[in-house]
Amino acid sequence: MDKVVIVGASAAGLTAAETLRREGFTAEITLVGDELHLPYDRPPLSKQVLSGTWEPAKVSLRKDADYADAGIGLRLGATAVRLDTDARVVELADGYRVGYDGLIIATGVRPRMLPDGHQLKGVHVLRTLDQSTAFRAELLAAARLVVIGAGFLGCEAAASARQLGLTVTVVDPLAQPMIRQFGAEIGGHIAQLHRRKGVDVRTGVGVAKMLGTDQVTGVELDDGTVLDADVVLVAIGAVPATDWLADSGVTVDNGVVCDAECQAAPGVYAAGDVASWPHQKFGERMRVEHRMNATEQGMAAARNLLGAATPFTPIPYFWTDQYETKVAAFGHLTPDAEVTVAQGDPADDKFIAHYHRDGALTGVLGWNMPRELRKQRQLLA
Ligand SMILES: Cc1cc2nc3c(=O)[nH]c(=O)nc-3n(C[C@H](O)[C@H](O)[C@H](O)COP(=O)(O)OP(=O)(O)OC[C@H]3O[C@@H](n4cnc5c(N)ncnc54)[C@H](O)[C@@H]3O)c2cc1C
Repeated sequence: MDKVVIVGASAAGLTAAETLRREGFTAEITLVGDELHLPYDRPPLSKQVLSGTWEPAKVSLRKDADYADAGIGLRLGATAVRLDTDARVVELADGYRVGYDGLIIATGVRPRMLPDGHQLKGVHVLRTLDQSTAFRAELLAAARLVVIGAGFLGCEAAASARQLGLTVTVVDPLAQPMIRQFGAEIGGHIAQLHRRKGVDVRTGVGVAKMLGTDQVTGVELDDGTVLDADVVLVAIGAVPATDWLADSGVTVDNGVVCDAECQAAPGVYAAGDVASWPHQKFGERMRVEHRMNATEQGMAAARNLLGAATPFTPIPYFWTDQYETKVAAFGHLTPDAEVTVAQGDPADDKFIAHYHRDGALTGVLGWNMPRELRKQRQLLA
């Protein structure tokens, strides 16, 4: 291979580029990204950057000079609009065509939008650094925030906004916050945490429409309730950024469909939030939107592109920080799992929970017990 192109200049793409170098690949690497910032870390965007404890610049993953030192060619502000796997060419929005011998797709996900309301001033989504700083600027001048969607992003943003002193309401049609990530039982603890901190958590109810003409003034719920708002965050999940792969020869179905080695087509691999692959140990096809997976899969895709031919079988890891509470989990936490408290006590705000499915341990979760949780990872390995 003389030339590797990586599309998506973020956690997975950067890791893939650095792994290629570490594994001894000395030829050309081009990292293409549609944002204008150097690759940066997203988890602080809903936590430290939003609450103001970090300057935005701190999220940068590497310094400018590091890319030159590693011989990684950066093409920022460049959107890939088409892939031709026969000709092995990626076409950019400005018409430029980048040829490759090996390609890694790491384009992540984009926020899912509501059918209407995003045109109003004061309505935000949160995925990028620019979105985080714009959202924070409006929060600083606002009194009331409504968060639509009680997944990890909505919950973290609600916590940060409470820390800034706003009145916060979180709305979700499901029975508990973060139910998709942690199931109903732990979701119940998340709801209690937010209620203790003064957040109005409204579950089991959806949003009918957003109110306002130019500026958002509120949110009307399915049950007719009107919630006044100066700022609204729409945090209803994300969709894989695969629109540029239409008719490319790469199969897209809830992400880039890969084999167990993260290969999507001859010479084409995928990694991070965008990649779906069959996890041979869990016996299921997975697509994981977690930071650690972006790193691990970036490494795996790069090594497999170089010929390692190793199935990708990680133990998924996820964490979320809300207020002073740190929740983290290893494994595959499905909402249908049976959850038992294995150590500590939820009443003390410190515990370890085990997730079982069909009698097998599939996940361990630590609530304010990071050290003990790390020891428990072994149970899954
Ligand atoms: C606010 C926030 C908080 C988070 N907090 C946590 C957390 O606490 N714990 C945790 O485990 N995970 C967290 N995550 C998830 C974690 O950040 C992601 O899993 C990780 O960023 C995925 O990395 P990635 O490189 O696969 O994709 P991304 O980081 O999404 O990067 C993909 C890049 O590709 C670019 N791109 C897309 N399409 C194109 C195109 N056609 N051409 C060129 N470039 C393109 C995108 O603009 C983006 O820059 C959080 C995410 C967000 C947004």
